[in-house]
Amino acid sequence: MDAKQVLKLFEDTAYVRTGGSADELRAAEYIRATLEEMGLKARITPFEVPASTIRQARLVIDGADIPCKGYLCAGSATVEAPFYYLRNTDPYSLAQCRGKIVMIDGYLGYWIYQDLLENGAVGFVTYDGHANYADRDIDQRELRSYVHKGNRIPGVNINAKDAIERIRNGAATAKIVLEQEETVGQSRNVILDLPGQREEYIAFTAHYDSTSLSQGAYDNMSGSVGLLGIAEHFAKRRHHYGLRFIWCGSEERGLLGSKAYCADQEAVKNCVLNINLDMIGCLMGKFIACVTGEEKLCHYVEYTACELGFGIKVSQDVYSSDSTPFADRGIPAVSFARIAPNNTATIHNSYDTMAVMSGEQMVLDMDFITAFASRMANARQCPVAREMPENMKEKLDIYLCRKRDKK
Ligand SMILES: [Zn+2]
Repeated sequence: MDAKQVLKLFEDTAYVRTGGSADELRAAEYIRATLEEMGLKARITPFEVPASTIRQARLVIDGADIPCKGYLCAGSATVEAPFYYLRNTDPYSLAQCRGKIVMIDGYLGYWIYQDLLENGAVGFVTYDGHANYADRDIDQRELRSYVHKGNRIPGVNINAKDAIERIRNGAATAKIVLEQEETVGQSRNVILDLPGQREEYIAFTAHYDSTSLSQGAYDNMSGSVGLLGIAEHFAKRRHHYGLRFIWCGSEERGLLGSKAYCADQEAVKNCVLNINLDMIGCLMGKFIACVTGEEKLCHYVEYTACELGFGIKVSQDVYSSDSTPFADRGIPAVSFARIAPNNTATIHNSYDTMAVMSGEQMVLDMDFITAFASRMANARQCPVAREMPENMKEKLDIYLCRKRDKK
């Protein structure tokens, strides 16, 4: 695949495609059709995801309506209470949440949500966007099922500019009105098999969904295009191990596609390695590999990059992407990415378009990943241990909210 073909794929998929939406399906069908043009037959595998239609979402602070988006899957309720901005999470600050509508900084993760519940908050406000950006965009957020675990309070997301304005004006009281209709929806993985000479296989993954404001060229049509290029490469060549390519849906909603895939015991039984692509080929930034597996693989990737003359930074860690459900099944995983400084390319907003991408860099990144994958695909025996070292198990426990990070 050359730079021109790469750019064409970005052009054709320059639209928002959130997990479970009609446009996500459109992208899945596009990937399947692109493979078909290469003479390859992929299947679309559906899985269930929570779905919701917001009927009404309002945030009123001291009598003034603030532009907001209601949290999907956070139930329907109206709450009116004093407003509190939780700046710190020490016991004193948390104790002030009782009976209040609480605004937090950053992302609504599992532990902060549990803190809000335990300390008696009755509603929550998050904000995103950037004080210095020209837009007043508001991302459509979701109260994820593994975050609320059945205990739900209503919440809304607002723009950072409005958050700042309310704090400057000494926000004292708030009201949240949230009405939504919740159902079960469908998202999909697109799966292509290139059988090898043995039963065991290497799973390549990349998510093709995006967040609500984003065309997701960088995050992660780039990785999806990468898989198309790698599949095209191997389709014409012999390989010892079987190769399975999985374009994952609903990654941005909590790795739902890869989790659905890995929930199938039979499917993962013969998987020896996961190679995950999430954000490659950006014009700016450094190339990284994140190994969730034995440390030896870090050195192997480093040596291979040096041998091939390719700049890289390798670490042993958990990557926030579709590699994690594989690693949690004991399958060694390596994620590849080109990480841009965030003053040159950002993600999860309307600025993630093909303007930040480079066709030439995409080709170089794909070539390196293909070279690494070829060594693994043609190994007489995949050399990577199929087990998780203790330090990675610990990191997986923290990432998957089974254990709280004390730091
Ligand atoms: Zn991503």
